[in-house]
Amino acid sequence: MLCEMCGKNVPSTARARIEGSVLSLCPDCVRFGQLVDPPPVAPSAGETSGRRPVVGSSTRPAGAARRLEERDLYTEIGEMELAPDWFKRVRVAREAHAWTPEDLGKKLNEKKSVVLKIEAGSFRPPDALVRKIEQLLKVRLRADPAAAQEP
Ligand SMILES: [Zn+2]
Repeated sequence: MLCEMCGKNVPSTARARIEGSVLSLCPDCVRFGQLVDPPPVAPSAGETSGRRPVVGSSTRPAGAARRLEERDLYTEIGEMELAPDWFKRVRVAREAHAWTPEDLGKKLNEKKSVVLKIEAGSFRPPDALVRKIEQLLKVRLRADPAAAQEP
């Protein structure tokens, strides 16, 4: 094989980089350059260390169910804040008047079922209805103490 630098015929040449170009050089000339690793012959087949099955990974459900307090819920939908036991107050006040749920429903122009839902706390009446109930039953449902100052 011929050295690409000095032209000497040698049994084997080595590839080396000299000033940017890669040449096949005899052992004498190789030291002037930087040896270039021979190109990879074949991709090393057989990745023995394959991926292991992920077992017992501590993956938690992102953002565990966020508990909303009722107060927050009302705030979010832009309604006024009610006392935690507002629906109980409705029932107690109604019973103090000796009214049946039907009676109260008629006075509120609502169905009896609506009154029952309200007293069960499963239906949060709109603000206007809250005020109506408060005036009708002389009870305060709102949590804000200032709201009690209404005549
Ligand atoms: Zn040479």
